[in-house]
Amino acid sequence: MARKKQSRGECKFCSREMTKGGLTRHFSKCAKYLEAIEEADKKRGKKQKIYHVQIQDAWQKDFWLHLEMEDSADLEDLDAYLRSIWLECCGHLSQFSTGGWGDEIPMNTPIKNLFQKGLKLTHIYDFGSSSETLVKVIGEREGKPLTKYPIFLMARNKLPEVACIECKQKASWLCMECMYEYEEPGFLCDKHAENHPHENYGEPVPLMNSPRVGICGYDGPAEPPY
Ligand SMILES: [Zn+2]
Ligand SMILES: [Zn+2]
Ligand SMILES: [Zn+2]
Ligand SMILES: [Zn+2]
Repeated sequence: MARKKQSRGECKFCSREMTKGGLTRHFSKCAKYLEAIEEADKKRGKKQKIYHVQIQDAWQKDFWLHLEMEDSADLEDLDAYLRSIWLECCGHLSQFSTGGWGDEIPMNTPIKNLFQKGLKLTHIYDFGSSSETLVKVIGEREGKPLTKYPIFLMARNKLPEVACIECKQKASWLCMECMYEYEEPGFLCDKHAENHPHENYGEPVPLMNSPRVGICGYDGPAEPPY
């Protein structure tokens, strides 16, 4: 999915729209975010380490997430989150590892035993038609979590806009036969998806905000679990 412009996403706190890298720099200065942290810290409960984690698809860099994870979470929480928001199609195996496909780290590993600023992990979902996700710990703070859940979504990319291969209008469908057999991008608008001639890979599938669209039987919904 080659594109000229980098995808952008909205800061959950102040709604400003930025690139992935822009957001990385933004959070430490976002007044709304700092306010939210201050509010959370007034609540009961004890302070803990909270990690700022940046996630991106290994090959399609336009798909990314900024997350906060509290240190009582384990890798299984992150695996479940990635499955919900991006990956789950038919219950394939998955693993976390350091250094690409090697050195598997058990799913029940508490992140407090593992995470530190600068840590990079690879997540693989499905060892056949695999989806590879890069996980990078880019910061940490001492405080109270913003949510009762182990993970808080700070930002995600908006669905990148792509053009129909027939008419250059906005596409909302993907033909997998174009992609796999003819090495075309296979993006189609509503009109051209209707009478598209290919059917060897089934009907065109709807484009969704997930890097797994077009892989295995993925059909969404590409929504966060919480
Ligand atoms: Zn902001
Ligand atoms: Zn599958
Ligand atoms: Zn079209
Ligand atoms: Zn096609």
